Formats: sequence, C-alpha cells, structure tokens
Amino acid sequence: MAFEGLSERLENSFKKLRAKGKLTEADVKEAMREVRLALLEADVNYKVAKEFTNKVTERAIGDDVMENLTPGQMVIKIVNEELTELMGGTESRLSIAKHPPTVLMMCGLQGSGKTTHSGKLALKLKKDGHRPLLVACDVYRPAAIKQLQVVGSQIDVPVFEMGTINPVNIAEEAVKHAKDHGYDYVIIDTAGRLHIDEALMEELQNIRSTVHPNEILLVIDAMTGQDAVNVAKSFNESLGIDGVILTKLDGDTRGGAALSVRAVTGKPIKFVGTGEKLENLEVFHPARMASRILG
Ligand code: GDP
Repeated sequence: MAFEGLSERLENSFKKLRAKGKLTEADVKEAMREVRLALLEADVNYKVAKEFTNKVTERAIGDDVMENLTPGQMVIKIVNEELTELMGGTESRLSIAKHPPTVLMMCGLQGSGKTTHSGKLALKLKKDGHRPLLVACDVYRPAAIKQLQVVGSQIDVPVFEMGTINPVNIAEEAVKHAKDHGYDYVIIDTAGRLHIDEALMEELQNIRSTVHPNEILLVIDAMTGQDAVNVAKSFNESLGIDGVILTKLDGDTRGGAALSVRAVTGKPIKFVGTGEKLENLEVFHPARMASRILG
C-alpha cells in the first residue's frame, strides 16, 4: 500500500513523543530528526523535508500547549496540519470556461497514465452530467489513437481524431467540433515521450497557444518518486501547468511525489489515480491524505 513505510516510521517516532508527559526542546528536535529521515526515506525532496521539519519544530517550540492535548499530541497535530499545508491545504478544483467548451489539455511522459486518465476524467464529467469529447492528439504512435478509442467506447464518450496530421490542427478542429455539437468539455490527449525533449515541448506550446486550454493538467506516475517531481518542474517551467494528476497511488509508492510536488512546483495535485479501471479517479484532498499518512 502507498505510504506504508512512511506511516510506520512516523508512528514509531510519535510513540516516543506520546509516552512523555513533558517535552523538552531536545525531545522535539530529536523527533523531527526522525521525521526528516522518514520523509527522505519516502523519497521526499531534500529541501522540502528540511523546511517541513524546521517549520514544525518552530511551531512546536513556540506554540502554547493546548489544555486538552498532551505535548506529544500537540506536536502530532502540528505535523498533521503542516502535512496538509505541504500538499496544498485545501482541494483545488478545475477552472471552467465562461463560454463552453472548457478545454483540458492532458500532458505527461509516456506510460504515466495520460490516456487512461483522459478517460477517467471524461467518465467523471459524464457522471456529473456533462458532455465531454476526447481528442486524439498523440499522432506519433498509431496505437495511441486506437487506445483512446477503446477507452472512449468503454465509457461511451466520442473520440475526435484526424489520423496523424499536425496535432495543433486536430486540437483546433476538435474545439470547433465541440462548439458546433454541444460538447461542454474537450479533453485533449497529447503525445507523450519517454523523456522530455524540446520538440515535444514546442508542440505542446503550440497547442496551448492555439486552443488556450482552461487547464493544462500534467499526469505523473507516483511510483517514480522524485523523477516525477522533476518532470513536473520541467513541464511547469517550459509550458506552465495548472495542476497535476498523480497516478498509480494504488501501488506501493513511498509517497515522495505526493508530498513534494506542490512545494517544488507551486502547482496543486488535483486528482489521484487509484487503479487501472476508469472509475479509479479521486479528487485529491490534502487533509484526508495527511490523516491517512499519519494513520
Ligand atoms: P500513457 O502512455 O501516459 O497514455 O499511459 P497509459 O494511460 O497507457 O497507462 C500506462 C499503464 O499504466 C497502463 O497499463 C494503465 O493501465 C496503467 N495505469 C494508469 N493509471 C493507473 C493507476 O492509477 N493505477 C494503476 N495501477 N495503473 C494505472
């Protein structure tokens, strides 16, 4: 299960805190040293882990102890609040176009789960009463268009495709098609690559400047930890992203990407993928995730 190692290590550190009636500054510092190691072990970005524990230490030493909590419980409460804050505080919603359709541009490296999550989002929107249109802009692998069609047919959402012509034109035509046919959401499945390269970024920039998406959503694989965070940083710098979809959280990811991506990129996780099925998509709730990590 995701976060298992982290939860276990945090629980061990907190056990010691709870056992003490009074806490000295040294006790808090020792506990935060352990928390920092636990975060690093979970593949959290080094700087993020350091800033996190510094902040908790500062608050724990400075805060008045609340009457109904023991000092140990107080520190755990602060950790919970700061973990929530680290992941963005409150949940972030998708922006909506003033004049439909709302255009969602899905980006990400190959294998991150981009096509699957285009389908998952389409299904979610459909369940919410919308009329989504999926758009096949990954023109470099013929199998990619087919894959999106299979996804579309599973959820009964149409797929707009024009074969392997310039994806910028496909995206532009798809938005026109949506306007003409009353689709209120356009979900553009763009091309992925194994690694970030300039040609890909340029293509994505061209699509962006042509269709002006309401949301550029970056799909990253939680199992790849800090690599996923670095991918998010690069995409954000080259393209500007509005949010992240963190996939494969059903696997045994250590959790580093979930905890670092917001602090490193400034962009929130909006959804998480929790399985291969198209129903396995959840809105990302930072507070719930923090409580889950703390057990
Ligand atoms: P793309 O190349 O980015 O379009 O990635 P795909 O959508 O083809 O997904 C790559 C693989 O990851 C497929 O085998 C998916 O079934 C799988 N996958 C996608 N999302 C999830 C998820 O949330 N959990 C799990 N366990 N597998 C996923």
